[in-house]
Amino acid sequence: AKAALRERICFYEAEMDEAARSRRALAAALWEAVEREQFHLDFQVQRNVSSGEVTGFEVLLRWRHPDWGLVPPMRFIPLAEECGAIVPIGEWVLRAACREAASWTRPYKIAVNLSAVQLGDEHLAAHVGAILAETGLDPRRLELEMTETAIVTDKVRSLRTLRQIKALGVSIAIDDFGVGYSSLDTLRTFPFDKIKLDRSFMTEVEHTPESKAILRAILALGRSLNIPVLAEGVETRVQLDILDVEGCTEAQGYFLGRPGPITADGAVRPAVPSA
Ligand code: C2E
Ligand code: CA
Ligand code: CA
Ligand code: CA
Repeated sequence: AKAALRERICFYEAEMDEAARSRRALAAALWEAVEREQFHLDFQVQRNVSSGEVTGFEVLLRWRHPDWGLVPPMRFIPLAEECGAIVPIGEWVLRAACREAASWTRPYKIAVNLSAVQLGDEHLAAHVGAILAETGLDPRRLELEMTETAIVTDKVRSLRTLRQIKALGVSIAIDDFGVGYSSLDTLRTFPFDKIKLDRSFMTEVEHTPESKAILRAILALGRSLNIPVLAEGVETRVQLDILDVEGCTEAQGYFLGRPGPITADGAVRPAVPSA
């Protein structure tokens, strides 16, 4: 039994080693990925709930490695944050997204994700301003998304940065609202233009009355604070109908369109089903 246990421990250690090695390999590859043009962007449509009209697109980063294929963002973004590579990567995303949107024939808004590390960079607003000037994108077409966790890391600095960004004419959305770190104080303190309701609410809203009650309360809160709410992760007609009845302004999710490449007139390929 002892030998078997030792064997298992060795196996476990070998696995840990393997995991650490592959993390190091992943981190090293990340630093080169921008230069080697291994990143591209997908766009996911955002629509008005009652009319189905397109209101904008969320920009989602994709990494295709020559050997490993498509690496999911949840595998490499936390690592990119840890090793600092998120700074050049984030700047690439912003520039590529603004350039792309500036070339569209229709003036849709784009929503770009920002990580906590970027938010902690005191030059962030200056970088955003420079990229807008360089690409010629109307600042009113750019929205930056950030999670509450990212904001509360350094509240004083975040508030200063968000004010600078808003002064450029760029809008701010709070992402994944209602899960993880969540406090009404954040809504009171920070100048958000949009609340993005986490997709876990959509998964549950059809089946649990608690989720529906919370959804209703958040929508009421949004209305009284005059902040529009976008529901994420809408996968079914039933969910969309619930949102419509409850008076949610905007939605995003597989039912309204999967993330994908985009054409010059702002249509996502493959064709977006009409809402
Ligand atoms: P997120 O910001 O919450 O983005 C939405 C995620 O939900 C995307 O996953 C999207 O593909 C997925 N999604 C959209 N509709 C549905 C649906 O109806 N059902 C389900 N199950 N999922 C849906 P993705 O593209 O894998 O991105 C995962 C996360 O990676 C994002 O979550 C965001 O936190 C991060 N991320 C992606 N791009 C960037 C980026 O450029 N910069 C930073 N800092 N983070 C990014
Ligand atoms: Ca997001
Ligand atoms: Ca989200
Ligand atoms: Ca998320």
